[in-house]
Amino acid sequence: MARHDISAATTARLAEPVPFWINGEAVRSARTVPLHNPANGQVFATVHAGTASDVDRAVGAARAAFVNPAWAEMNAAVRARILWRLADLVEAHATELAELETLCMGKPILAAMQMEVPFFAETFRYFAGWCTKIAGTSAALSFPVGDLHGMTLQEPVGVVGMILPWNGPLVIAGWKIAPALATGCTCVIKPAEATPLSLLRFAELAKQAGVPDGVINIVTGSGAEVGSAIARHADIDKLAFTGSTGTGRGLVHDAADTNLKKLTLELGGKSPVLVFEDADLDAAVDGAIDAIFGNSGQVCVAGSRLYLHASIREAFVAKLVSKAEALRVGDPLDHQTQLGPIASQSHREAIHRRVEAGVAAGAVLLCGGRTSQGAGSYYPPTILDVADQSSALVQDEIFGPVLCIATFDTEQQAVALANGTRYGLAASVWTSQVDRAFRVSRSLHCGIVWVNAHNIPDLGTPIGGYGQSGWGRELGQLGLLEYLQSKSVMFKISPAPVPAGSV
Ligand code: ADP
Repeated sequence: MARHDISAATTARLAEPVPFWINGEAVRSARTVPLHNPANGQVFATVHAGTASDVDRAVGAARAAFVNPAWAEMNAAVRARILWRLADLVEAHATELAELETLCMGKPILAAMQMEVPFFAETFRYFAGWCTKIAGTSAALSFPVGDLHGMTLQEPVGVVGMILPWNGPLVIAGWKIAPALATGCTCVIKPAEATPLSLLRFAELAKQAGVPDGVINIVTGSGAEVGSAIARHADIDKLAFTGSTGTGRGLVHDAADTNLKKLTLELGGKSPVLVFEDADLDAAVDGAIDAIFGNSGQVCVAGSRLYLHASIREAFVAKLVSKAEALRVGDPLDHQTQLGPIASQSHREAIHRRVEAGVAAGAVLLCGGRTSQGAGSYYPPTILDVADQSSALVQDEIFGPVLCIATFDTEQQAVALANGTRYGLAASVWTSQVDRAFRVSRSLHCGIVWVNAHNIPDLGTPIGGYGQSGWGRELGQLGLLEYLQSKSVMFKISPAPVPAGSV
């Protein structure tokens, strides 16, 4: 059975405490923090931890880089080439970056190498294409006040704070950093406590690609200290956040209490998967499995609620449970592994507590639901029959491999169940009828709907939340616009001077 061996480059990198990154330089602090490998609970590296004063220094560097002509006036085509070069460098270092993801958060190494890192690299190529297409408008005037010419300029929003989650440390960072670079913004980034290493390696690659010093700054540390210092900093113009709805709510207060920085928030989800009786059932079973068990369910758009037409329930659930039980849970460095460990022991315990509470409240366990012995924080694919739609299992994000199932009889019921949470991030509709696919997609209250698929991301297709799943969009042109602000310029045009002697 093939097992990945950690490369010499990664082993060498982790031999010393890993520094963070300000103004193009490695920064070492007085305090280091251990990082635990969720596959075995052991400390595999330490990282220097920043403080609020490091954030202040990083913001100073980002502000200076923002107005530095080397970045601010860089030709758009040159900027595009830097982003493209950065994508090439990420690919050239894919193994190292993937290993750091796997060690920090337990993502299976093949998923890290074949999906996370290539998708991250491609994000820079996608946004490289936008650099030379950023354009304002020039409109005909709408009010008869004289001879004027009006136009708009699209300008970078400024210094952007980025507070990141641990579930896709590179991918989610790329959704923010790539449009920031394409538009000429500068960044002060806080990775999640447990997963800073891949991004710190990326910062070195960005320097190598030609990103000027100060454009990308990364300060490691806790949410309470470093995250809060970013959220409350008066010289940060915008904050891009991905994380829990509770933390996001706090950031709104932070922005309101300080400088009203602009916010994009990608928050929690409880995304429904609707399977109608006319669907290709085998494809839908596989889709439902991927939707909830990919990345061990630690995905914001995970399909954590499955609604089945009553007529297909029995056959569907039998196939679903047997496939879920056959999934290989284990060592993330093993090429056969489909579900690695949960990212931390404490998160695994939180998942299990929710499952136990749900069962105590009447949910019926169809598979999984037990914690394993041993040091790694593994959790099995877990499926529950949950009749009560108001239960916490159905209403609250669990962010783990836990799927709730219920049935419906009519399309209207299916839509009402799907829309019945405070979230609105994503959904999928499984049907062979075009009319139904269209009707249901239109009725769903969420930022993205997949038809006969789930969680197939695309760089040109925006993603973001309705309801309490967030504000703003990432990816696509809408994701780019979040890093731009529009300035209108009005020219009053005087009449041409009348040449002397003319009548
Ligand atoms: P999770 O519970 O999944 O870790 P969080 O929303 O707590 O989600 O964390 C997402 C990111 O937000 C992490 O980088 C974390 O350190 C940061 N964070 C947590 N609390 C705060 C806070 N009060 N202010 C700013 N950032 C925070």
